Amino acid sequence: MGEALEFDVVVAGGGHNGLACAAYLTKAGLRVLVLEGREILGGDTTTEALTLPGFRHDPCATAFELFQSSPTIRNDELGLRQRGLQFLYPDPVVTMPFEDGASLTMWRDRQRTAAEIARLSRRDAEAYLELLNEYDRVKEIFNDHRYTPIGYGPSLDEWLAELPNGNYWKRRYRQSALEVIREYFEDDHVRAFMLWLAFMTLQPVDRPYTGRLAYALPYGRQANSWTLPVGGAGTLPALLAGFIRERGGEIRTGEWVTELLIENGRCVGVRTAVGHVYRARRAVVSSIHIKHLVEMAPSEMWGEEFGRMVAQWQAGCTMFVAHYALRKPPLYPVNGDRIPVVTAGITGSTDNLMRLLSDFQRGQLHLDTPVLLVLTPSVADPSRAPEGCHTLKVVSFLPYELAGGGPSRWDMIKEEVAQHLLDYLRRFAPNLQAEDILAHYVESPLDLERRNPHNWHGTCHGGDLSPAQSDEMRPVPGWASHRMPIPGLYQTGATTHPGGSVTAGPGRNAAWVLLDDLGMPAEAILKAPAS
Ligand SMILES: Cc1cc2nc3c(=O)[nH]c(=O)nc-3n(C[C@H](O)[C@H](O)[C@H](O)COP(=O)(O)OP(=O)(O)OC[C@H]3O[C@@H](n4cnc5c(N)ncnc54)[C@H](O)[C@@H]3O)c2cc1C
Repeated sequence: MGEALEFDVVVAGGGHNGLACAAYLTKAGLRVLVLEGREILGGDTTTEALTLPGFRHDPCATAFELFQSSPTIRNDELGLRQRGLQFLYPDPVVTMPFEDGASLTMWRDRQRTAAEIARLSRRDAEAYLELLNEYDRVKEIFNDHRYTPIGYGPSLDEWLAELPNGNYWKRRYRQSALEVIREYFEDDHVRAFMLWLAFMTLQPVDRPYTGRLAYALPYGRQANSWTLPVGGAGTLPALLAGFIRERGGEIRTGEWVTELLIENGRCVGVRTAVGHVYRARRAVVSSIHIKHLVEMAPSEMWGEEFGRMVAQWQAGCTMFVAHYALRKPPLYPVNGDRIPVVTAGITGSTDNLMRLLSDFQRGQLHLDTPVLLVLTPSVADPSRAPEGCHTLKVVSFLPYELAGGGPSRWDMIKEEVAQHLLDYLRRFAPNLQAEDILAHYVESPLDLERRNPHNWHGTCHGGDLSPAQSDEMRPVPGWASHRMPIPGLYQTGATTHPGGSVTAGPGRNAAWVLLDDLGMPAEAILKAPAS
């Protein structure tokens, strides 16, 4: 028999969304318990010594750029800035070297970025500034849509209809990023650079409904750089946990939730793997992956249609990540010089990125000319590594399901794949030599799922953000307002609107709906200044 403790709300999963949701609920005066399965909080926002002591790596999220436009941070609704959350905005923002010797660098000053583009095409430099200006006029609408729960505001089309050029934007966001970028830009280096940026939330850039990303990603990076939280991604869950505890909330780690307690057709708590029972007077909020959640109560409680639609859920694009502890940072060619940068991208050409997407769909590894995201946060944040040393993260976009072998083949090939990516990176940063690599640690898409079950099938964002799985379709049509088919149960996290990435949006939106259902002034509570 396990102990049975009772709270107002039990939150299952201590990633940043579960914690943000819990923090807003404690702000409303509710007594909240957060249960996290791992021994550390944060889910995909942690900082861990993956290689050697003193080297602080972000296993998953590094860039906190999207978070900059979240009301949680913009209006400091949870007092995180007051409690010490600080960001760095590296300059240059990102550099992209090409095999033909060309390079393109985004600087914090947009005119300087335009001057870089003008070296390749004057027309494209003007188009770049025009694209930023166009998005500047509509960004708030897209942002408001993300940070309003489904059913609590107009649909995106209704919102866009309020604009003088609303029809234009209705078409734009239904287009693919590839269509938008081909229309704006003529030079293939510039096109490849813009497409790679648009791809940074891992949505295939040739798919309809990715048109907005052609604007939003360059706009956000140009405005806020490749934003780094000082000290690493793990500072965010630590500060959220502090907020919760200060308000009487409780957090328990090492508690995997395995079962939803159902009484009289209602969810009244959870049971964990170690046999503990936690009861919830008002509600249970889950950020357990939707695929696993449906296993935690009898199938008839969900209804046949809900179960069938969860079965259809798609993971989408996945990442392969290799971490290194370095004595020296890689140096990239930038305007005739060789300099260290926080972020480098390698994509080659439009055609190469399209081939990556096609290989991905077929379970093939795109390794001849890999597409890379390479991060060296220690260039801007010396707290990430011992003095003079650096942390390096090499990311590529490779499938979980491998043709002819399933995901388990990853364990045999991951070291070889990591070595291949490193060798390719050396073509652009030849100073990255073996004697300066002190240690390394590799995570395949299968390892990312093992590290966090919310990364179901290696997904980085809860699941694909395709038209079939976004907005009022996420996680299941008819159930996108965080309320689940079992009364008393709410869903948050990356499988809900507005999806993955570090935004706290799903956590805040779920808190909004739950507080509203409890008859509390939800919006006023969320937006009230935090003490
Ligand atoms: C490799 C990688 C790189 C990324 N890079 C970026 C980036 O640079 N910028 C960015 O914005 N986003 C990035 N992302 C995406 C982003 O990190 C995630 O979308 C986001 O952090 C998800 O937050 P969450 O709180 O919804 O879920 P998670 O962070 O996944 O948290 C869910 C939590 O629930 C716990 N849990 C699951 N099941 C149970 C259970 N049964 N019982 C108890 N606990 C449970 C898990 O252990 C986990 O702690 C990246 C993701 C990956 C994988």
